[in-house]
Formats: sequence, C-alpha cells, structure tokens
Amino acid sequence: METLKNEIIRLKKEKNAVILAHYYQMDEIQEIADIRGDSLALAIEASKLDAEIIVFCGVKFMAETAKVVSPNKKVLIPVIDATCPLADTADKESVLNKKKELGDVAVVSYVNTNVDVKTVSDICCTSANAVNVVKSLKEKRILFVPDRNLGDYVAGEVKDKEIILWNGACPVHEAYDIEQLYDLKNKYPDAAVAVHPESPRAIREAADFIGSTSGIINFVGNSSSKRFIIGTEEGILFELKRNNPDKEFYIIGSRSVCTNMKKITLNDLYLSLKEERFEIKLDKKTIEEAKKPIERMISIKRNQ
Ligand code: SF4
Repeated sequence: METLKNEIIRLKKEKNAVILAHYYQMDEIQEIADIRGDSLALAIEASKLDAEIIVFCGVKFMAETAKVVSPNKKVLIPVIDATCPLADTADKESVLNKKKELGDVAVVSYVNTNVDVKTVSDICCTSANAVNVVKSLKEKRILFVPDRNLGDYVAGEVKDKEIILWNGACPVHEAYDIEQLYDLKNKYPDAAVAVHPESPRAIREAADFIGSTSGIINFVGNSSSKRFIIGTEEGILFELKRNNPDKEFYIIGSRSVCTNMKKITLNDLYLSLKEERFEIKLDKKTIEEAKKPIERMISIKRNQ
C-alpha cells in the first residue's frame, strides 16, 4: 500500500494535479487527498485551484460540478459509475414538465443533481446553505429538487414560502429508523445527537443538531459532550476521530454506508492519475447554463 501511495504522490506532483475527497470517501482516500470537504466546500475549492488536473474522489455529480466551475481544467473521477441514486431521481425533462405543471415557481436544485438538472435550475444549494438559499429568493413558491427530506427540513425553517417537494431521497439517510436512534439514546443518554438534514423528519426531530457534514464536524468540535450519536454516512468518522480523539461516536443503525462513495479505491485513484481517466467532458452550452445556478449558490453563506 505504501508503494501505491508514493506513486500517487509522485504522479500528483508530476502532473500538477490536486486530489479532492468528499467526507464519505474511504479513509485511505481521505488520508491522501489534498482537500477534504463537503459538497459546498469542494465546489468552492475547485473554482479557486490553479492545478491543471483535478481528481475528484466523490460521486459523478460532484465531479461534474467541479468541471462546470473549472472548465479549463481536466477533471477526472477515478470510477465512472460512482453515481448517486438520489441525483438519478430527477432529470431535465421531468423537472421542466413539473415546472410547467406548477406555473410560477423557482427551481432550487440540491447540488446532488446531475448536471442536466442544474441547467434548468434557478439556483443550486447544498445541505450547508439550503435554508439561506431559499430565504434569498424573492419567489414565494419553490420547487425543491430532488431530496424530499432536505426540502422538508427547509420548509420547517422557511415558513413564509411554499416548498413543493420532489419525491427523491438518499437511500443511506432514508434508511434510519427512529427505533435505532431511541436504542442508542437509551444506551448513551449523555450523548448529543447530530444528524444530516437528508434524514427523515422523525430522526431530525429527535436530534440536538441538524446540519451538513461540515456542520456536524463543527458542532462536535465545539461541543462539551464526550459522546455523539451521528446520523450520516460513516465516512465522516475519519474527520471526527482525527479532530476529537477523546470523544466517542455511534452511528445510527451501527453502520451507514454509501456504496457509491466507497467505490473508489487507492488503486483506482492511482490509475486515474496515471492514465488520466475518467475525464468529465461537458459541452460549452451545458457548462454555461449550469454555471449560473452554481455560482449563484456559491455566493450564499452557510446555514451553520
Ligand atoms: S450518501 Fe446519499 S446523497 Fe450522498 S452520494 Fe450516497 S446516495 Fe447520494
């Protein structure tokens, strides 16, 4: 494994490449990455980098977003079928049809959408800034695509707007059962509960904190609690344990894994750098159209 890691570091320097990794990636990928972060942080970082190659260790919509904000760079994803089942619940045509049916609405698309949906969105958002994004709009009716749990969370925080939900959900967060959370709360009554807004409402209502992966990481770092029940993909434990070696963490349901996020191995990363595969290619029109809602999103600050 050490040889592989050394080769990745060597190739990275030789090719002026930067490795970005989402917090849900496997530990060894996060370890070797130049930048770790949530979708919003990585999108912002990608737009600022002066590297020639960005290797995006995440799922495809994230690499597409990096390409849109950095069209002159070569953007690679080490495994081409690392896709997001939540993103795949919406496509451009079905969003346009829904918009036509609803009439006067603003389309807010979670960054977890494929690039074609972004091209027909008024603004994008991430779980870190969704509430502020919706508040920033003058429109009173919002079509929120595609995560119904995040949209429901936003609706609870922004009472003066009508939020129309798309019927999509993240299979990882959707799987949380309130009984699993109660079991952990009974076992560790002193633990603070921090969950992602993609979690179902019952889980969110029983939490002490609701936020994006970065939000959860900050919450844990600033909390005086010693134990935490966490409601998001278990890759977040890498950063949580690294920053808080004296704290204990329990994931709802004991395991929570996004199989797509875990598809990228060190060997895939090595091959991606070596052979410059798999390149994200988008046409000029798609980039121009998708750039507007993404840039509009980047200008809005985080909820927390
Ligand atoms: S955790 Fe859920 S939303 Fe994130 S990539 Fe996996 S399936 Fe998609």
